[in-house]
Amino acid sequence: MCTRVEEQDFISVAPIAVFPSQFPRKCFELAKEVQVDCNLLMHKVAHDNEFLASSLKSTNEVDEFTRNIFDIHEKVLKAGVVQPLSFGLFRSDYMVDESHGKEPRIRQIEVNAIASSFVGLATKISRLHKHLISKYGTPKDLQRLPHNDADKNFAASFVDAWEAYGNPSAVILFVTEDKTVNICDQRSLEFEISALRPDIKVIRRSLATLLETAKIRGNQLLFADNLEVALVYYRVGYDPKHYPTQEYWELRLLIERTKAIKCPSINYHLAGVKKLQQLLADKDVLERFLEPSRAEKLSQTFAGLWGFDMGPKGDEAVELALSDPGRFVMKPQREGGGNNIYGNDIIAELTPIKGSSQREAYILMEMIRPPTNKNLLIGPNIDIDPSSPFHQIVSELGIYGAIMGTSDQVVFNSESGHVLRSKKSGVNEGGIAAGFGAVDSPILY
Ligand code: ADP
Ligand code: MG
Repeated sequence: MCTRVEEQDFISVAPIAVFPSQFPRKCFELAKEVQVDCNLLMHKVAHDNEFLASSLKSTNEVDEFTRNIFDIHEKVLKAGVVQPLSFGLFRSDYMVDESHGKEPRIRQIEVNAIASSFVGLATKISRLHKHLISKYGTPKDLQRLPHNDADKNFAASFVDAWEAYGNPSAVILFVTEDKTVNICDQRSLEFEISALRPDIKVIRRSLATLLETAKIRGNQLLFADNLEVALVYYRVGYDPKHYPTQEYWELRLLIERTKAIKCPSINYHLAGVKKLQQLLADKDVLERFLEPSRAEKLSQTFAGLWGFDMGPKGDEAVELALSDPGRFVMKPQREGGGNNIYGNDIIAELTPIKGSSQREAYILMEMIRPPTNKNLLIGPNIDIDPSSPFHQIVSELGIYGAIMGTSDQVVFNSESGHVLRSKKSGVNEGGIAAGFGAVDSPILY
């Protein structure tokens, strides 16, 4: 799958599910339907500077990473926005909740605003499952597999964004980790862009390389290795570890201040923080950004969310979490998996900080317990018992969305496709790179 591998790239084998997994059609359709609302919500929140400042005030005080992102946002505003277009490739994640009765309900886990992954692999797995079902299933089964063109759709959005920049010789820059594990996924996207538009050059550079080579020239134009950059696509930058020194933050600021279109722009990145997800779960807040009928639809997907703000409401949330921790997940403002706190660990983490503003670094979310299915997961770190090879699994649906616009105009806004990620039931987090989860696709019922 990878024809050209650079030094910083690793070939890794992503675990996959051999068969598609059962997923309720109604839930799938609702998640797809509200993706454009989700995109628009992120867009509007990202362009409401007052809302961002007031909502993130307490988080910024206790969470250095969010504060650093916010500082860049403020500096860009102060210096004057050179590129008014923001470009976002998002992924909204959902689990199905059946605990409240018989009707399965879809529940949003989070919205990823930066480095939304698995578009490339998901599309391939959808095709693999289609092939298998066409060979071994019935025509009726085939109809239950939803069509998935996520890679082509994201590639088309890249092309639209690149064209908006307006220089046919400028390149698309993928900003990657020093060592990229999920390389086949990223390359697939690059190849789809190339299939659509062979004339568009895509380059891949790590932040460490860009420290040396990224330069601003002329009228705030971004250059990397003497190539003018039209579009910066971050597959990195969502974790404090990605900024080992202050210079890395300065690089992010430098890029942000140029005319290059950023995916995501710093304000889109901010709109994806979990604290905002919690605040937007309040209907009144949501209706500031979406018209009531769309706000109503979108809020049908929300799970219970609470903030630990200092004050009586936050005190109640603390009480709730400590009295019945098994019902909740406690989340810091982090991305990338492995950061959440579950069950009795909530007591250990929350008790020492329950009276201080440190608690405001977290949000509390209702624990979703999705129905289990059987599937065969294969991958380098997945144990298979030959006498009973099937695993009990639970799945998480991701819906991709693309949006681009300025503070007063949306240029495009679309739902782009889907991924299903499945993990063995009983495992709290489903990191695919860590070997806990597998790329899967849904078969609807
Ligand atoms: P991250 O930004 O690190 O991906 P998430 O909010 O997506 O954080 O949580 C990581 C994983 O933890 C999810 O993919 C899911 O498997 C699990 N998880 C998160 N929230 C919940 C929840 N409310 N109920 C059940 N599982 C959850
Ligand atoms: Mg996640």
